[in-house]
Amino acid sequence: MSAQNPPPLTLIDQFNRKINYLRLSITDRCDFRCVYCMSEDMKFLPRDEVLSLEESARIIRIFASLGVTKVRITGGEPLVRKNISWLFHEISTIQPLKEIVITTNGSQLAQHAHMLKMSQVKRINISLDSLDPVLFKKITRTGDLNKVMLGIDEAIKEGFSNLKLNTVLMKGINDHEAIDLVNFALHKKMGISFIEEMPLGDIDHKRKDTFVSNNEVLKKLQVHFNLIPTTFSSGGPAKYWQIANQSTKIGFISPHSHNFCDTCNRVRVSSKGELFLCLGQEEKIELMPLLRQYPDEDWPIQKAIIESMTIKPEAHDFNLDTTKPAVVRFMSHTGG
Ligand code: SAM
Ligand code: SF4
Repeated sequence: MSAQNPPPLTLIDQFNRKINYLRLSITDRCDFRCVYCMSEDMKFLPRDEVLSLEESARIIRIFASLGVTKVRITGGEPLVRKNISWLFHEISTIQPLKEIVITTNGSQLAQHAHMLKMSQVKRINISLDSLDPVLFKKITRTGDLNKVMLGIDEAIKEGFSNLKLNTVLMKGINDHEAIDLVNFALHKKMGISFIEEMPLGDIDHKRKDTFVSNNEVLKKLQVHFNLIPTTFSSGGPAKYWQIANQSTKIGFISPHSHNFCDTCNRVRVSSKGELFLCLGQEEKIELMPLLRQYPDEDWPIQKAIIESMTIKPEAHDFNLDTTKPAVVRFMSHTGG
């Protein structure tokens, strides 16, 4: 009788959701200080508390062995990490990963677009909250819009066909730019997603004062564009609309107006190696000590990840009506 192969390892949580998507923050550092993401005097982790690039690659390899097929590299700003090309090259060799994607602020994209293309990166999400250089600087506190524009053009030149903008609109700050940003995406043949501001981390403004609901944004856009609802799904929480006769899709990520948790397929690992089971909850397990205790043995780490499925919560718990953030950690810590 021939020996049977053991069944492949998979990650299924207590609500029967299959987890096949990992978002890995490879640094909490960033060259911007976006007002909705960070406080002005943001403190970053000491370097020895951050996963090394080798540890980051190992984590991805371990998740791939557990059935994860998609990985998003994020941060902080992933492209400010030293030797980032080594990591992307390494990830491109991991089987059976099907999709490598990245979220970036675009400031260093012009230098790295070619490397990302060579590393089989499938999609790039670029954050862009304003087309006005002065307002862009005000929102990012340090950013140079021109560099982001160069990055977008370089990525287009490299042949990335499915670029997407991520935009956070804030009332009285940049919400008047929704239509212009969609027109920009149309002009560049990119997609665009509007993300509702989430209460992650203590920042310098009251989020309730700047909150713009995606329902409002949609209504505003419908006056200007012929928007058709689609059933398209990128496997994430966004609901997509299409502009008639155009390829551009407009996504709405609305943790406040719509709860998207029932189809959640993802977990996040922070730059400190914490495995967060939900962006909007505190449940986590620490992977860094295990990685360092078992440098040559993956099973203890695989086992911890499989066991973590029992504490993945059913839903996030965002509420803007309190003075405290829903979750004390910043998006840049967990990885957006
Ligand atoms: N630095 C990269 C960037 O900006 O694209 C990657 C990391 S950033 C944390 C990922 C995404 O999270 C960005 O699109 C950003 O706009 C979004 N983000 C950050 N803080 C947020 C918050 N409090 N609410 C909603 N989106 C947020
Ligand atoms: Fe940096 Fe991205 Fe946060 Fe802006 S949103 S401060 S670019 S990590």
